[in-house]
Amino acid sequence: AHYLKRIERFDGTLNSYITVTADQALERAEAADKARAAGKAGLLTGIPLALKDIFCTQGVKTTCGSKMLDNFIAPYDATVVERLSAAGTVSLGKTNMDEFAMGSSNENSHYGAVKNPWDLSAVPGGSSGGSAAAVAADLAPAALGTDTGGSIRQPAAFCGITGLKPTYGRVSRFGIIAYASSLDQAGPMARSAEDCAHLMNVISGHDGRDSTSVTRGVPDYTETLGAPLSGLKIGLPKEYFGDGLTTEVEQAVREAIKVYESLGATVREVSLPHTHYAIPAYYVIAPAEASSNLSRYDGVRFGHRCDDPSDLFDLYTRSRAEGFGDEVKRRILIGTHTLSEGFFDAYYKKAQQVRRLIRQDFLDAFEEVDVLMGPASPTPAFDLGAKKDPVSMYLQDIYTIAVNLAGIPGISIPAGLAANRPVGLQILGTHFAEAKLLNVAHQFQ
Ligand code: GLN
Repeated sequence: AHYLKRIERFDGTLNSYITVTADQALERAEAADKARAAGKAGLLTGIPLALKDIFCTQGVKTTCGSKMLDNFIAPYDATVVERLSAAGTVSLGKTNMDEFAMGSSNENSHYGAVKNPWDLSAVPGGSSGGSAAAVAADLAPAALGTDTGGSIRQPAAFCGITGLKPTYGRVSRFGIIAYASSLDQAGPMARSAEDCAHLMNVISGHDGRDSTSVTRGVPDYTETLGAPLSGLKIGLPKEYFGDGLTTEVEQAVREAIKVYESLGATVREVSLPHTHYAIPAYYVIAPAEASSNLSRYDGVRFGHRCDDPSDLFDLYTRSRAEGFGDEVKRRILIGTHTLSEGFFDAYYKKAQQVRRLIRQDFLDAFEEVDVLMGPASPTPAFDLGAKKDPVSMYLQDIYTIAVNLAGIPGISIPAGLAANRPVGLQILGTHFAEAKLLNVAHQFQ
């Protein structure tokens, strides 16, 4: 009730939720109270959560930020949603996002931009901007987001909260509307690393319904939060402190790294030499996969359908023309082009080869150091409407995107302010190092 009241009071301004499931939340909260009274409550029983509107929720509208799915009521729950409900959490509703998770500012949503609670003239970041803003404004104690190229870490950085992108395969993608299937991963966004650890304990683990989810066991992520950091080897990728990084962000990040030195960690420079290929490789691979994933929205089986189609072709083309926004159409065009005969080898195949080199950069670095640290984003949150040119928006992803290409985990934690807007310190680890990342993040707080 506390959070629902706050949503009613502040979300008219912030626009962080697309759908608020107030009645359902109150009902579940009551059930949680009963379970608690009966001595049957688990750690998360009755804890409210916000879910990015990319997670299918049975009986509840699931739009993915698109007009295409404005009328879509999911017939089943995503695995992560199912697991969180089984753990007793209470969903408050579905949060705003860039359409089909394509964007870095949340301005590509069919449901309007989200405002950054720290400064209403700034974007909250994207594509999980609604989840980040809702947690930052205390319209939910924690949320789930997804990260295909930075969409958990960058909005967490812009809104001054903690967000973890797990290793590819750690968390099931079943029931999460697909953007780029080889990159998509769900993760927690919360006020602390400890809260993220509790959520990770619930959402991680193998799922027979996602063939890319791994069978590897899940540790208790809360157990190692308190481990001391003396002797921790931190690498600073020199490519993450170069051109385009604003001075204030660099200062805040370097100050944060000093805190780790004071805790007994050692710091050295490392190199990820293929970093400058990450954006071009990602913006070939992600649109290619998206163009394939989004072919299912044809106006026939579900989603938006145009009025009075004259024939099948008219039905397909008009439904898609009306249902998708500009950025989504741009990506479908790019992806269809790069996958077409005669271009496939030059673009998609080449990008996959580059992807392998980028992954190897990280593996080489982790031979020498335990974690990498750097900024989550080259700038603090920018102003709403400031980045009209799509390429300038894509360049925002410079520090987050390579991580998804490599499949490794990354976390962004609040590390001070630049020009009165939050700065995120990004910490990266090798595959399945989530417990280490949460430990390192927790020691800062
Ligand atoms: N900004 C990137 C994109 O637009 C990443 C988005 C994401 O992680 N979902 O594709």
